[in-house]
Amino acid sequence: MKIPLAGVIGHPIGHSKSPRLHGHWLKFYGISGHYVPLDVAAGDFERVLRTLPLAGFVGANVTIPHKEVAVSLADEVTERAARMGSANTLVFHPDGRISADSTDGYGFIQNIKAARPEWKADQGPAMVFGAGGAARAVIDSLLEEGVPELRLANRTRARAEALAHTFGPKVRVIDWDAPRIGLNGAVTVVNTTSLGMSGQPPFDVPLRGLQPGAIATDLVYTPLDTSFLIAAAAAGAKTVDGLGMLLHQAVPGFEAWFGQRPDVTDALRDVMLRP
Ligand code: NAP
Repeated sequence: MKIPLAGVIGHPIGHSKSPRLHGHWLKFYGISGHYVPLDVAAGDFERVLRTLPLAGFVGANVTIPHKEVAVSLADEVTERAARMGSANTLVFHPDGRISADSTDGYGFIQNIKAARPEWKADQGPAMVFGAGGAARAVIDSLLEEGVPELRLANRTRARAEALAHTFGPKVRVIDWDAPRIGLNGAVTVVNTTSLGMSGQPPFDVPLRGLQPGAIATDLVYTPLDTSFLIAAAAAGAKTVDGLGMLLHQAVPGFEAWFGQRPDVTDALRDVMLRP
């Protein structure tokens, strides 16, 4: 039997933490497979994709700049990947078919549920800061979880308006400079901007109006304790850091490729936090 191979395809790819993540699971579960970083330029992506299964690859993660084209090349696309128009997880089937999935939204929701089992998205409005690529998956997954109303604030209002148009009437655009109206009564508050990430300016939007007991979660995980989470905790929110989203989004791929549903554990978090 061939040793199963998987990897992450992107350009550049040196920064990816996925090899460390999947490498930990392969070792932990005693699976004789490998997961490698694959630096592939945009123009070579399709050729590489067609060749990988011949070399023993059972699937791959895809990242920038291949996430959109991956959807167009796949034979099967999950509903959530179709809604995103992008994929991060590909499965190469023995009959040659390629299926594509987008698991960021799944990872986002699972991370909150694992950290705060009492959380129910449908118990009240959500307030989302940011309208970039990651916001799309967050909004889609929150609506799938039954959020009754989603308030969206972005520095560039037009991007928030565009997402509201895509996702329909449950999404309401809020002024970036006046988030209080969006925070009022929200049970879920999310930072999907890159503010607070190492090397970026801090998240300094005032969180007045944030309801004590609300769940606040940040997609940024370097550092783990972000300026947004610190401010949210000070306002009485229950916080969830962003590292778990990265870990949980990897679960469906690993299971499909290696036949083992992996657990997201503290040991895995420790491995990922090592310098
Ligand atoms: P993106 O598409 O580039 O969007 C960036 C967002 O941040 C936009 O809403 C942008 O607003 C906002 N922003 C950037 N600088 C700002 C500033 N100075 N003031 C106000 N808003 C600012 O990036 P993305 O792919 O959505 O990723 C966003 C963050 O999520 C990144 O830090 C990324 O690492 C993180 N992320 C984490 C995970 C995870 O697994 N935890 C997964 C995906 C992404 P404008 O539209 O006005 O520019």
